[in-house]
Amino acid sequence: MESWKDIRSLNMEELTDAVTAAGEKKFRAKQIYGWLHQKLIRSGDEMKNVPAACREKLLKEHPLYGVTEVERYVSKIDGTTKFLFALHDGNIIESVLMKYRHGNSVCISSQAGCRMGCRFCASTLLGLERNLYPSEMLDQIYAIQKATGERVSHVVVMGTGEPFDNFEALCRMIELLSDENGLHLSRRNITVSTCGIVPKIYTFADRYPQVTLAISLHAPNDAMRRELMPIANRYSMEELMKAAAYYVEKTGRRITFEYSLVKDNNDCREHAEMLAALVKGLNCHINLIPVNPVKEREYEQSGMESIRAFQHILEKHHIQVTVRREMGRDISAACGQLRKGYKERSGNG
Ligand code: SAH
Repeated sequence: MESWKDIRSLNMEELTDAVTAAGEKKFRAKQIYGWLHQKLIRSGDEMKNVPAACREKLLKEHPLYGVTEVERYVSKIDGTTKFLFALHDGNIIESVLMKYRHGNSVCISSQAGCRMGCRFCASTLLGLERNLYPSEMLDQIYAIQKATGERVSHVVVMGTGEPFDNFEALCRMIELLSDENGLHLSRRNITVSTCGIVPKIYTFADRYPQVTLAISLHAPNDAMRRELMPIANRYSMEELMKAAAYYVEKTGRRITFEYSLVKDNNDCREHAEMLAALVKGLNCHINLIPVNPVKEREYEQSGMESIRAFQHILEKHHIQVTVRREMGRDISAACGQLRKGYKERSGNG
């Protein structure tokens, strides 16, 4: 089991141990937890009712790590806001706030960079820098809520990184986020997207049956998937679909498949037919995503006509399907393009 020392990654039990180890009374733990996870403090000295000596002692052993806003882009089209954040060691990550009728959704990163190597994705171009701590995942949400004054009701782990490649930190983040002493977000309002690390799908379904799972599929068979996603060489489509079926059976909930449509690659009618056959009988929802062109890659977005045709074929087979609305088109860049652009501009690219 991994463990973290920074104070915002600790759960109540660990924080209580830390507080008593610092020679303080137990009740302080709950007080401090409230400052960290409800009042969403940005620095340790905001904990007004905690004696300075106690704060100092604690924070020396358990530093307060979080994110610091570096840049912000607001879409004139739909208000979608993208944030570039710096971590305590200078790494840069990105997060997005999307406003929907049903509430505010924040898309967070789980790693600085990514090592999964999906061919159409910008996040992976510079490889993996490091895993994020639970606190750094949480603080993306906290910092956005604090900076905008908008209450965050939904969290999607779909930013840079592969959440199941940083599994224990992801789990801790979910536990802290849904804790009644913190923001107390319903686990049903959390969505985790994976490129398909099969063994972790099983563990995740067992541990967090309320959390929504999305699997990045992007192809209807092994051969095509292997061309787009290196992870498909490690786990076959058959293994992946078995794990998806396990999630649905175990949780009684619908699973989401993401399918990015790439022009003349995976967007033909026959691919839609194959995809329909693949998911037949499974309680699922398919989210079609017009691929976001990345300048380092040659992939092009499918035309609207192919997208609609693809959608209709799935509908004909009674599969629930939506085409993802493109949010914040004018502020460029999904999936790591902002972070990469920043690194290039600042000479670290
Ligand atoms: N690693 C996780 C989550 C991060 S990516 C995963 O693979 O699911 C979130 C989603 O965006 C994934 O479905 C991913 O495949 C997709 N994606 C990445 N780059 C994209 C691009 N250029 N255009 C469209 N979708 C993209």
